[in-house]
Amino acid sequence: MAKDRFGRNIHYLRISLTDHCNLRCVYCMPEDMTFRPNPELMQEEEIITLTHLFATLGFDKIRLTGGEPTIRKNVVEIVRGIASTEGIRSVSMTTNGLLLSKLAEPLAQAGLERVNISIDTLDPEKFKRLTRWGKVDEVWDGILAAEAAGLTPVKLNAVIVTGYNESDAVPLAGLTAKYPWQVRFIEMMPFAGATEFQLTQMVTAAQVQKQIEAEFGPLEVVNNGKLDGEARLFRLPNGIGDIGFISSVTVPFCASCTRARLTADGILRMCLLREKEIDLLTPLRAGATLEELRDLILATVWDKPWGHGLSEGTIPLNRVMSEIGG
Ligand code: SAM
Ligand code: SF4
Repeated sequence: MAKDRFGRNIHYLRISLTDHCNLRCVYCMPEDMTFRPNPELMQEEEIITLTHLFATLGFDKIRLTGGEPTIRKNVVEIVRGIASTEGIRSVSMTTNGLLLSKLAEPLAQAGLERVNISIDTLDPEKFKRLTRWGKVDEVWDGILAAEAAGLTPVKLNAVIVTGYNESDAVPLAGLTAKYPWQVRFIEMMPFAGATEFQLTQMVTAAQVQKQIEAEFGPLEVVNNGKLDGEARLFRLPNGIGDIGFISSVTVPFCASCTRARLTADGILRMCLLREKEIDLLTPLRAGATLEELRDLILATVWDKPWGHGLSEGTIPLNRVMSEIGG
């Protein structure tokens, strides 16, 4: 088991398959984003080698992210390789859903268990503005394809941004009256690239909850308020799905964090919102033994920061969100 110095059992690895993306969401990356050349990204066999190594250290839960993981070449084969690694109990993915109509079924057959799909509004015009060119209908088709392929329970991620989609939390939450989905509202976090925007146009989880309750009445607490991952869950009075609030900025869940992140260029980052990183890919390519890499990972896990420093004004500026993997 990999433990940090605060006694947290770190067993959940988020692997970014690529920093590239087929959208340019305004809160995630600049429009003229430059992506890393492919040779700088972990190659398929390097991803599998590192997954195996993490699994031997007790990591049993993997989430694939990006950038957009579904545009990674051979994504189905990568999922198959990870899902069949001894010790890995669950493989899920966070995706913008655009390619799921085609990929949901093969991904499910390769061993993908669940997906989180990002959709910040149901309005085609607002969706296009938020993503700079995306078509919301394609995401909707992707959601239905994920459900049909058994990638359930489907979870939808929404970031509410002042001036873009403040009035869209209500219709998104309303989906849970009709569908057994979990609609989660994530507070916008500040990174390099769009820091000013992210700080000034963030809508808090409490504000979103207030809007939803003004429309539907008081929400019912689910699971006695126990966190589901990072989300506090609620239900509409007539709901069949759940509504989650991920208040990473205003009410951080750092004390119960069990995560590590592996960026697409093979860097181990122990906190999304702290700049400290350790390169695993360079030593792997230079011929480090698995034992040496194992020691490097264990030392880095041990040093995991207690939590982020947003309340003291510490903002991570060495990467934009898509370069870390949300
Ligand atoms: N491309 C995939 C997607 O959009 O789901 C996976 C990567 S994306 C970086 C992962 C999640 O991070 C998405 O749900 C996205 O909405 C969220 N995200 C991006 N930038 C964010 C920010 N500045 N603050 C909070 N969440 C953000
Ligand atoms: Fe791409 Fe996801 Fe970032 Fe949007 S949030 S730009 S889909 S990586």
